[in-house]
Order: sequence, then C-alpha cells, then structure tokens
Amino acid sequence: MTRDPRYDVLFEPVRIGPVVAPNRFYQVPHCNGMGALRPRMVAEMRGVKAEGGWGVVCTEYCSIHPSSDDLPQVYSSLWNQGDIKIHGLMTEKVHEHGALAGVELWVGGAGSSNLMTREVIPAVGSMPTGRGHPFQSRPMDKKDIRELRRWHRDAALRAKEAGFDIVYVYASHTYLLSQFLSPVHNQRTDEYGGSVENRVRLIRELIEETKDAVGDTCAVAVRMSANDELGTAEQPVSEDRREIFNILAELPDLWDINIHSYKYEMGASRFVQEGSLEKTMHYVKSITSKPVVTVGRFTSPDTMVSQIRRGIVDFIGAARPSIADPFLPNKIKEGRPEDIRECIGCNICYSGDSLSVPIRCTQNPTMGEEWRRGWHPDRIHPKSSDATVLVVGAGPAGLEATRALGQRGYKVMLAEASTELGGRIAQERKLPGLAEWGRVADHRVQQIETMPNVDVFLDNNLDADAALSIGADHIVVATGSTWRADGFGRYHAQPCPDLGPADQIFTPNDIFKGRLPEGRAVVFDDDHYYMGAVLAEALVAHGVEVCYVTPENLVSAWGVNTAEQYLTQQRLVELGVRIITAHGLDVYDGSKAQLSCVYGGETRTVEADAVVLVTARTPLDGLYREISGQLELIEPGSVPTLRKIGDCDAPAIIAAAAYAGHRYARELETDVAQPVDVRYDRLVDPD
Ligand code: ADP
Ligand code: SF4
Repeated sequence: MTRDPRYDVLFEPVRIGPVVAPNRFYQVPHCNGMGALRPRMVAEMRGVKAEGGWGVVCTEYCSIHPSSDDLPQVYSSLWNQGDIKIHGLMTEKVHEHGALAGVELWVGGAGSSNLMTREVIPAVGSMPTGRGHPFQSRPMDKKDIRELRRWHRDAALRAKEAGFDIVYVYASHTYLLSQFLSPVHNQRTDEYGGSVENRVRLIRELIEETKDAVGDTCAVAVRMSANDELGTAEQPVSEDRREIFNILAELPDLWDINIHSYKYEMGASRFVQEGSLEKTMHYVKSITSKPVVTVGRFTSPDTMVSQIRRGIVDFIGAARPSIADPFLPNKIKEGRPEDIRECIGCNICYSGDSLSVPIRCTQNPTMGEEWRRGWHPDRIHPKSSDATVLVVGAGPAGLEATRALGQRGYKVMLAEASTELGGRIAQERKLPGLAEWGRVADHRVQQIETMPNVDVFLDNNLDADAALSIGADHIVVATGSTWRADGFGRYHAQPCPDLGPADQIFTPNDIFKGRLPEGRAVVFDDDHYYMGAVLAEALVAHGVEVCYVTPENLVSAWGVNTAEQYLTQQRLVELGVRIITAHGLDVYDGSKAQLSCVYGGETRTVEADAVVLVTARTPLDGLYREISGQLELIEPGSVPTLRKIGDCDAPAIIAAAAYAGHRYARELETDVAQPVDVRYDRLVDPD
C-alpha cells in the first residue's frame, strides 16, 4: 500500500538543536506505573513504540535526586550509575529503530511528598505538599538553589551517558519549576521571586546549564504550560505567561507545550475532544522559532496535517494515542490509516499511574505486556493447527478473541445473539459522552471484515446443542454479564429484600433497552466508576429529576484513578442533580427511598418514583455451564475444548474483557501454563 501524499509532511525529518528527529511523531513523556520499579517492562514498551514509527520516544518523569520522590506514584530516576544502566536498556531499544530518546528530568518541589526517601521537600516556599499528604515543604534558600542546579546538571550528564538525545527541563504540572514561574505560588522576595524576570531566573539557569553540560550532543527541551492559574475562560493566556515565553523563547531547542489544568490536558473523552489544547497554546509558535510539540489525543492523520500546515505545532505529540496504538505512525506511513486502533479517551491507562501498577489500555491489550508476556501490538504467532474455533458473544472479549485468532490464521466462527456487534459497547456507546468508546467495537469489526477466515453469524442465540453441533475444535464463551436488580454489591453483601416494587426498580440494562423511569428517580451508585453518573446524566436529559446516592464520599469515586472524578461531579452539580454521598440505600417502597449514613447510621428519606440500581453484575455463564455439563458426558480430553472469558467469567472493566479475549487467542494451542510463565520485572539492577 502506498501512503497518501497528503500525509508526507508528517514524515519529514525535523531538527531539534544538535539532533534530528526522523519524523514528526513525538511520544511525549508519560507515566506507566512501571518506571524505576519495572525497568525491563518500560524499556520494551518504549522500544515497541519506536518500532511502530514514533520518531521521538520519551521517558516518564525522571527524578534527578532523592529529594524528588513521588511514590506511591511510580517515576523513573537518574540518581546514580545503576540508573544509567537501567535507562540504557530503553535508549538502546529506541535507537535500534532510528528514533530519538528523550528524558524528562523532574524536580518535585511541593508537588511531591518524598514518602519513600523521607527527605524534607525543598520548594519555592513553605506550603502544603501534593496529593493531600499532611506535609509541608521547606523554602529553598540560596544554597538549596545552588545544590539543585548542580543536581540537575549532574542528572543531565548521567542522561547523556545513558544515551539520551533530548534532555528536558520540566516546568509544568505544579512541580517545582512551575511553582517558581507562578505569580501565585512564588511569593519569594529574593532574586528568584517577584518580577517575571526573577521568576524565570531558575528555569533560565537550568536551561543554560543543561545546554552547557550536554548541549553538544543532546537537545534541551522545556515542558511548560501555555497558560497559568491567572487565565480565565475569556482570556486563557495571561500577560504574565506571555512575558515568560517572550523571555525564554529562543533558549531551549524544543518547546513541549501543555496547559495548566491537568484534568483538561488529559481529559477523558466524556469531557474533552481531540485537539482541544489548540485554543490555548496556538500562540506559542508565533513567539519562538524553535520546534513546538503538544498533545491533543490526535488519532486522525488529517487533523495532524492540519495542525502542522496551520503552524500550530511542528510535532504531533502523543501519550494516549501512542499507548492505544504504538504502530500509529507506521500505519499512516504504510498507507493503512484505517488500521489505526484509535484511543477512546477512557483514561484507564492513567489508572496504572494512579494505582501504582503497570499500565493497561482498553484498546491495546498488549500495552505493558511487551516484555512480561512477550506480546507485540502488531504481530502475533501463527496458528498451531488447522483447528476451528467457535466464539460465542461479540462484546469486547469475543470480538478481540475473534480478531486475534483470525490474525493467527485460525478459522473462526463468531456467533452473536443480537443483530449488532459490540456487546456492552453497542449499548454503552449510546450513553452521554461515550460515543468514542464505540471505537473498541468499530476497530475490531473493521479488522474482522477483512479476514476471509472469519465468519460472523448475527442474530444467533446459541444453546449448548447448537454450539456443539457446529463441530468446532474449540469453543470460547464470551456471553457477558447483566446488572443486578436486587441491590447486591459492595454496600449490600447479600441481595436486599426491601427494594420494590419490581416495576419501579431499574438497572442499567433497562436504560440500555429504552425502559426509563419517569418523574423522580434515585440513582444508587454502588459501582463507583462511570456508569452511575453517566446514567444520571442520561436521565436528566430525559426529564427525570435525579437524586444520586452513593456510599462513597465522592460521585464516581473510582474515577479519581482515571482523572475524571472531578469533572464528573462538576457535571452532575451543573445539571442540578441532587447529590447525597456517604449514604446507602436500605429500603424502597415505591414512593420513598430510605437511606442511612455510612458513618453514623442516621436515616433519611428521599421521595422517589423509581430507583435505578447500579451495584454489581451477574455473569451470564449459563451457556458455558450447559456446554460444560454436556462435555462431561463425552470422553475426557476429547474435542472441543471449552473456555469462558470476559464478563461472563468475571465482570470487570472493558479493558479486562479485551485483555481476556486477546490472551485466549494468544495462548490457544500453546503450552503457556499461566500464571506461572509470566515474568515479573522486580529487579532494579539490570543484568
Ligand atoms: P464482554 O464484555 O465479556 O465482551 P459483553 O456483555 O460486552 O461481554 O458481550 C456479550 C455478548 O454476548 C452480547 O453481545 C450478547 O448478545 C452475546 N451473547 C450472550 N449470550 C449469547 C448466546 N447464547 N449466543 C450468542 N451470543 C450471546
Ligand atoms: Fe486511550 Fe483508554 Fe487506551 Fe488510555 S486506556 S490509551 S485513554 S484507549
């Protein structure tokens, strides 16, 4: 296939100071929950991105000294010789594919709390530290500043020794350097505070000293926000921020630009669309002659070209699109952009960082498994035999199993009870803000359609006899789950007998089917992820007066991990939803819902014409059990083999279902004895 010439501009080499990027695809620094704790997993993951065509591949935030420690959030570090070796694993893999490797040197300041190193936190002033920990920082004196400059220089030298081509001065995301720049946080009265010239002084010194230390072979990048806390909706960029840019404009070799608000910068697609940073950062290129990169969850090559042609950026920056599809650049290059596995903006990848576990991705089940399981995002080993496989159910688990088995070359039959493919995705994509989630199904359906070895049978609600009569060598059941209507969940450890009458009780499945309550409804969210709040939003749009109740202290409490909790709660407040937190639902009699406080047990009553229960799900594993019962009558060890995967095995997030489907396909007819064969990257010192 040949590339569309319209996209040629994306593959032009671009000079960054002393180095040249082979194209305009730039994987900006992003966290991954692995960092210094799982160096081989990170190295392989970054190497795969370079292989997939990203011209620049950066690390996550990389601490220059033990006084910048963010655990339990996992970062990387360049504190010593051992760290140089560790980063060498990554730079070698990135260079193997002709890409440049960048390192984001990081100084935490009051943005970190040093819980592991227990160092007192040097910062712009004495202030409460990040993430709500009960610590305060120590104001840096002249000696501290001199030391910091030395640490930064030493880390830059170590970065060079580790093989990096781009070294960052990282001045955003509320960490130390951004607080020095800030007219709000920087209240110093010495030559590092007060006027704009004084507030930029430290950053200027660090840029100059980094250039002096490593600038002969390494480019020096600065990561900074286009706006600051002074910006308003009408005037997002303050005069102060423009002045800062004017002073620093030509100093670095590259500008990596983001925006002040992290929740919008990496906002979930429910709230933030592709290319949304442009309205804030568009002016930066008019101030500097140096190349500029920014992010925007870019997945459309046309949007990318437009960004370049209109002079907004020189590089297409990406974290999430490079996670969802590490081969995005190569797919455009090879003239197959329709194969791009587009990020859906769910931010499950970010939950790895929030929860300090290796990154996972809803769209890309191989993310984080490149080293551990040896999975590649674009390649898979061929089939082991001419066996046939029956996949029952076309949700994320069944679709991904079908796609990956088809890619291996198996003859696959996919049977789906309904008249459309997608399972829960087909339903949830119709809910407010979740349209982009449809990409999970669309990508797989589009891939399957090109596979002559895959047959899809819609409107086929199989029972055990029908499934067995097909004569497949392997049967994999992916029949999903259904929401419970009996109150069972986290709050009620058993079904709750006091919720009725049944025709006034609703579940998400009812809403999916178009059976909606009228009048006043209590949405009882004991699931704590997105579903309760999204349904509340859907009901408001339908004219229902909604009271949202949760035993947690926040609306959609788990959304903290996907950086969408704040915006979710804000949305419900704006919609006029009545919010009652820290309460469970005990009784509903058809007109009144009785709630009790999770702390003191005090009860209160809310008038309601209906109750929507978002609590837990029941696995729909009836077909699996039926087939398994029949197979027991057949000779042990004979065909077909039988497995269940995804929500019918254990209801969970969409990423888990896609992962289960992928894993089934990878492991079919192999001798992988999971979980024993998985490699755990516990070593800090590489071999
Ligand atoms: P998962 O998230 O595990 O992929 P989903 O609930 O999204 O599960 O999808 C399950 C799919 O299985 C649904 O589309 C449903 O219609 C389908 N399904 C359920 N039972 C059967 C059956 N007996 N035969 C064929 N398809 C089925
Ligand atoms: Fe995109 Fe979701 Fe994957 Fe993150 S987890 S890269 S947001 S699809």
